[in-house]
Amino acid sequence: MIKKADLPYFYSMIIIIGAGLSGLLTAYRLKKAGIPFKILEARDRIGGRINTVYGTDITPVEMGATWFGNQHVHLRALLEELGIEYFKQYMDRIVYYQASPTSPTESVQIPIQAPSYRISGGTSNLIHTLYQKLDENDIILNQSIKQIKSLGDSIQVITDKVYVGSQVVVAIPPKLWAKRILFEPNLPADLIQIAQQTHTWMEDSIKIALTYKDPFWEAEGRSATLFSNAGPITELYDHCNSERTKFALCGFINSSFHQLDVAERRALVIAQIKSVFGPKAEDFLEYQECVWSMEENTFEASDIPHFPHQNNGNQVFRHSYFGDKLLFSSSESASEFPGYMDGAVCSANLAASQIIASKINPLERTDR
Ligand SMILES: Cc1cc2nc3c(=O)[nH]c(=O)nc-3n(C[C@H](O)[C@H](O)[C@H](O)COP(=O)(O)OP(=O)(O)OC[C@H]3O[C@@H](n4cnc5c(N)ncnc54)[C@H](O)[C@@H]3O)c2cc1C
Repeated sequence: MIKKADLPYFYSMIIIIGAGLSGLLTAYRLKKAGIPFKILEARDRIGGRINTVYGTDITPVEMGATWFGNQHVHLRALLEELGIEYFKQYMDRIVYYQASPTSPTESVQIPIQAPSYRISGGTSNLIHTLYQKLDENDIILNQSIKQIKSLGDSIQVITDKVYVGSQVVVAIPPKLWAKRILFEPNLPADLIQIAQQTHTWMEDSIKIALTYKDPFWEAEGRSATLFSNAGPITELYDHCNSERTKFALCGFINSSFHQLDVAERRALVIAQIKSVFGPKAEDFLEYQECVWSMEENTFEASDIPHFPHQNNGNQVFRHSYFGDKLLFSSSESASEFPGYMDGAVCSANLAASQIIASKINPLERTDR
């Protein structure tokens, strides 16, 4: 039994679960409104599915979210608000194409694409900018939430510690909270069922990147783009920085290669790029990869196979529960572009505005 006298200083605060884009932006909006909060994050890093790796020569390579387009208005507005620059993804018109493992590599012309953009300095620039707007002790890392309990007009969030707040924003993908967190009292059965069957975008993808001292493909007049059904690489793109002073190729490999160990995957990737881009492709500085299905704070097995974006944006995620004390955020909850960074921004904007507009103003609850 927890006594009021034992409650930690979190009591009158909003507790945000998850320090991905959605959780961090919710926090930033609350901070601007003067509402106290804490973020509890399971990993030992912030950013969630956004993770730029800089490597030894500080070439930014994306292991998670990378591209966005003109249609992603919430994200673009946020970048403008924060003064973060972005640049057009370099894209060849003539690309390499491997139709099957047995067919020869072809050079094919692709139609003109709508532009896609990348964040200057790497996508984590957005995460670090939001982080810098917060105080260091606003975020507590290595806190994996196991249980959430509604108790009168407060709400408890339980890891190996107990945090008590006035409202909780669960800013993690629906399938994760529905399968990992015990809610007391039970949440509506239909909400849990929909959440358990909500696809987490890119949760089983494998991202790879190779950094180079020089862009050998440019010097040789080669395309940097590959689309392949010959495996393991399925897509590969130019991944130089905005100033084109750091050089890399980055893309995806088929998720079925997750069972191999790093050395085996790396050897297959190198063999494929060498066969397509020639011997200089082997002179890379570093190989980076992220197998997202091995990331326990992103991936969760599904009971039945889900189609991409299944149940993403379902309106049940935008209702509040436990008498307005419990809200859900995360990209997959968003009404627009769920699954994408834009969805995470949209979702965070909504959760923060609901709290700010809420009659339960935690600043007035300090006597409780
Ligand atoms: C490989 C890959 C490529 C992608 N490419 C693109 C792209 O090009 N463009 C695009 O728009 N989007 C892309 N996305 C999607 C984009 O990354 C997400 O939409 C966005 O980052 C989601 O943010 P979020 O805050 O909603 O969730 P997340 O980033 O998943 O954040 C959730 C946070 O909650 C934490 N957490 C989980 N469980 C718990 C728990 N029990 N207790 C406490 N904390 C917990 C996690 O560690 C994580 O930090 C990509 C994603 C991946 C993985």
